[in-house]
Amino acid sequence: MKALAVDIGGTHANCGLVENDRVLVHESVDLAGTTNIRTVLSRVAEVLRRLVNQRSLSFHDFQGIAVGFPGLVDSRIGRVVSTNKKYDDAPEVDFTVWGRDALGLPLRIENDARLALLGESYGGAARSFSDVVMMTLGTGIGGVAMIEGRLLRGKHAQAGCLGGHFPAVFNGRPCTCGAIGCAEAEASGWALPGIVQEFPGFAESSLSKLSHVDFRQLFEAAVNGDKVAQAVRDRCLNIWAVDAVGLIHAYDPEVIVIGGGVMESANIILPYVESYVHKYAWTPWGKVQIRPAELANNAALVGAVPLLSETIGHTALTS
Ligand SMILES: [Zn+2]
Repeated sequence: MKALAVDIGGTHANCGLVENDRVLVHESVDLAGTTNIRTVLSRVAEVLRRLVNQRSLSFHDFQGIAVGFPGLVDSRIGRVVSTNKKYDDAPEVDFTVWGRDALGLPLRIENDARLALLGESYGGAARSFSDVVMMTLGTGIGGVAMIEGRLLRGKHAQAGCLGGHFPAVFNGRPCTCGAIGCAEAEASGWALPGIVQEFPGFAESSLSKLSHVDFRQLFEAAVNGDKVAQAVRDRCLNIWAVDAVGLIHAYDPEVIVIGGGVMESANIILPYVESYVHKYAWTPWGKVQIRPAELANNAALVGAVPLLSETIGHTALTS
């Protein structure tokens, strides 16, 4: 099956043409300063049209389009249910109608982290597993679940996709979701500058000389012996590991796939999470495997074909 695929992020949209588990071609669209989803969609359509033309294909050669969106999405009705300060007009858009009118194709939209998990399950690190949790550690924290080969969605489409908002600290930092002490509020890219600045000893730390602290700088400073950086890094490792245990207790996976920008430091993160999980998770059947994601930024694109092939009720969208 050939499909069009779009992964809409906070600052970029990754647009691609896929055939089964292969990305034929993809292009990143810069969305910096764009807050309106309709503007995003018209730019995405333009890029897809060009990519299709460049390969001397037409939209008729594709069975559908899959869209990943960074918010709560009900893929059964093709709509964004709720946003978190990104493209807040998206719930007003009927994406299925847009796909038909703009591209002449069936469309399915899904939460971006769920779509990435579908990709890793179909053609990446979770290929041979039916029960999978994927954590994405980056600007935010994604935590999504697949049980018995199917994405977990739930009554209001928010089951199994809010793993970054598991409570980690009961009296912790305010989160963008409205809760307190979520894993994401305690150990994500957007929260990191505030966490570092409020950490005791920050004024004497090498981090105080940086205009904006990200995880690459934090891990570097920690390796170079900066005490505050080491303490904050170790705290983040702990939060991620605690979140992993929560996800295991909630969803009973065989494997946790970890991806996201922070995984540049996979050599530190994976062994830490693995040993913590093997020590503290209650899994009498054995040990949950901890694996790095394989598809990086293309995971959601590779999720397009399985999403479009998925049956809703008794009907496959593209049959
Ligand atoms: Zn939260």
